[in-house]
Amino acid sequence: MESLPITIRSDEKGYFDRECPNGDCLYTFKVLMKDWEEKVSDDEVHCPLCGHVDTADKWWTQQQLEQLNPIITGFAENYIQESLDKVFGDFAQSTRHNKFIRVTYKPGRRVSFSNNPIGQREEWETEICCEKCGTHYSVIGSAYFCPCCGFNSAVNSFNDSLDSIEKMLESLREMKAMLTDKYNADSAETMCRSMLESSLGDMVSAFQKFASCKYDELSGKTSRVNDFQIVDKGSKLFEKETGKKYSDWLSAGELAFMELMFQRRHILEHNNGMVDQQYLNKSGDTSYSLGQRIIVKEADAHSLLAILRKLGSSIMKLQVGGDSDGN
Ligand SMILES: [Zn+2]
Ligand SMILES: [Zn+2]
Repeated sequence: MESLPITIRSDEKGYFDRECPNGDCLYTFKVLMKDWEEKVSDDEVHCPLCGHVDTADKWWTQQQLEQLNPIITGFAENYIQESLDKVFGDFAQSTRHNKFIRVTYKPGRRVSFSNNPIGQREEWETEICCEKCGTHYSVIGSAYFCPCCGFNSAVNSFNDSLDSIEKMLESLREMKAMLTDKYNADSAETMCRSMLESSLGDMVSAFQKFASCKYDELSGKTSRVNDFQIVDKGSKLFEKETGKKYSDWLSAGELAFMELMFQRRHILEHNNGMVDQQYLNKSGDTSYSLGQRIIVKEADAHSLLAILRKLGSSIMKLQVGGDSDGN
């Protein structure tokens, strides 16, 4: 079979839907069509989420496969017609401009169908440009590997995580209205509150992953899993290696707020948000009494996000020996 009358069409932004062939993952993401054709190798594509590596012809989404079937069937029918025409010497029908024999079919490459937004959450999509190979791809939430070269960037992952948390926070109101329509006001309230609460945990874990990766890189040591979930401990670790501590970049108020939110995140995750004596002792939080439940406000989540961005951008500039400008 020499040819298939198909060309790839990207979505409005020039991206092309792909799906991880690893059965446990099946993560859907997008790659800029131009980069898919010019940069991504035929032999090696990396899943942004699980890191699975496979040949370029394995990354069809279920939707694409469904749309591909009639195209292939149609091609087969035309192909048979072509052959019959040839057999019967019907050269009156010009083949010079026949698109069916001009285009070469490469599996996984030249197929035309419309791309669909991923799920219902198109607005949370994050566009990423790999800092190593320049490939552009687009994901929902956090991604760890570049689909082209497999590069895993701690800095990118951190920024991407914060971006998608921010988008989620910004769409909370809209989601609440939508969920109220779909279910009822009670369920909508509960679901949105739970998303808001989990945003604290998502921020802390994004920061912790990023900070420990940077620390390991700077120190040549291996930090422990929760070292950077404790604000004071993390600050001291960086100070020991670089001479710079969190209070060099954050105001006393910002630092105190970050500590309070990290404490609240801890109690939300480990005690379902119920205030216990240990929380009161550790946090010095006077706005709650024993036995109350922590309430997360949207404004608090936004403030923590801004503080983590500020702190993160300073940590990114750190160098061993403390010769960073510390801005
Ligand atoms: Zn995967
Ligand atoms: Zn790359």
